[in-house]
Amino acid sequence: MIKLAVYGKGGIGKSTTVSNLSAAMAEKGLCVMQIGCDPKADSTASLHGGTKIPTVLSLIRKYGNDFPLHAMVCEGYDGVICVEAGGPLPGQGCAGRGIIAALEKLNQKGAYETYKPDVVLYDVLGDVVCGGFTMPMRSGYADKVLILTSGENMSLHAAANIGMAVEHFHGRNYAELGGLILNRRNVRDEDQKVRELAEDLHTGLLGSLDWSETVQAAEPLNKTVLEAFPNSEMAQQYRVLTETILHTCGGTLC
Ligand code: ATP
Ligand code: MG
Repeated sequence: MIKLAVYGKGGIGKSTTVSNLSAAMAEKGLCVMQIGCDPKADSTASLHGGTKIPTVLSLIRKYGNDFPLHAMVCEGYDGVICVEAGGPLPGQGCAGRGIIAALEKLNQKGAYETYKPDVVLYDVLGDVVCGGFTMPMRSGYADKVLILTSGENMSLHAAANIGMAVEHFHGRNYAELGGLILNRRNVRDEDQKVRELAEDLHTGLLGSLDWSETVQAAEPLNKTVLEAFPNSEMAQQYRVLTETILHTCGGTLC
């Protein structure tokens, strides 16, 4: 099993990218579990037709510990196992603590042993600096942190902060930095800026994704690009990125 946590600035394209990576990995025959660690609980929407699925935190609020493991998961496109951690009610409670509680509950109820995923992908907000958001990179939850960024300044800034957080935890058996992924916004010298950041963080650029109309067209269909437009150039870009990630981080899975 490999466990990858994908971080990046709010709105940079994490859920879109992670869901397409999940779909591309499932297409290869891998068992994939995608865990949305965002109070919006919309990470996995394009994998199950945009339906709302019960979040782990909402189940905890309603039933305490008295609910079965399968209540927390929903089987999505091509068998991807979808989980949404959820968040506190607006204005009440801490989103970071919510992520901790949700991930602990998944662990307690044996989610990883029961479903035996080949790949676990955590989709995590990256411009919040509270410790709860670093939970997926701590305590054995993720092996590698991948950072999604464009060449825009705020996105690069968030990516640098996430890189620093990973560095801070270095040597404590926590996740390592697996590399950056460029999700283009077509700003000036974009590839160069992201490559430079990768060098500064002593990591690699795993791949680049174009800013694409095809992605925009898949969104209202509540589908991944892989499902809606499997023969598109963009679907191919997600597949190529999947191969690189599996080669770089996946050991025997590629
Ligand atoms: P949040 O931090 O709010 O969870 P996010 O990082 O998960 O946001 P998404 O919701 O995946 O971001 O994407 C934000 C918007 O960007 C969506 O409308 C999505 O369709 C679009 N988008 C993401 N990647 C691309 C791309 N490569 N080309 C075109 N549009 C994209
Ligand atoms: Mg998201």
